[in-house]
Amino acid sequence: NNTEKRSFEAVRLDKLVEEAIQQIVFVADQKKIDIGFELAPACVSGDTLMLRDLIDNLVDNALRYSPVGASVTVRCREAGDRVEFFVEDTGPGIPEAEREAVFSRYRRLDVKVPGTGLGLAIVHEIVTLHDATVSIGSGAGGKGTTFTVSFPRFDPDASITAGEEVDAA
Ligand code: ATP
Ligand code: MG
Repeated sequence: NNTEKRSFEAVRLDKLVEEAIQQIVFVADQKKIDIGFELAPACVSGDTLMLRDLIDNLVDNALRYSPVGASVTVRCREAGDRVEFFVEDTGPGIPEAEREAVFSRYRRLDVKVPGTGLGLAIVHEIVTLHDATVSIGSGAGGKGTTFTVSFPRFDPDASITAGEEVDAA
């Protein structure tokens, strides 16, 4: 676990999410999905490539499983000693009985939509490596799906006093 954390650095999650949305917004346009975001500055300690993969998988799912005309909202914020990342959609939802199982490899609910069934297993692995948690709920008004990822908040200033170089940019 420690060797895997050697690549960890201070990551501005909000900026990473913004980049991810910019690159996937054409998919939303094609499906006439309204993609919105509320991104407050939020810093975590992590592996940038893995975190980007986590964001991409959750946003890809929200767009892929939601019908034409749906809406997807992506949020991140600091909350106390946590950083929270949410992806909410107005799609078909994930039944409560499936909310653990979908993190297993090859577990797929809608076989009409193409996919491999690995995305959420990878998300779960990345979450574990970052000492984070992931949970599935319903979306706004009890419809659709919300994925919530909660990370330990990283305080770049605290780490400087601990003798670690951090790029504040
Ligand atoms: P891939 O490996 O390409 O991501 P996948 O999307 O099928 O394939 P997962 O991302 O692991 O695999 O998702 C597992 C299953 O969970 C999906 O097949 C889908 O049935 C369900 N699912 C995931 N996200 C959502 C969502 N936002 N709304 C509804 N169902 C979802
Ligand atoms: Mg997927």
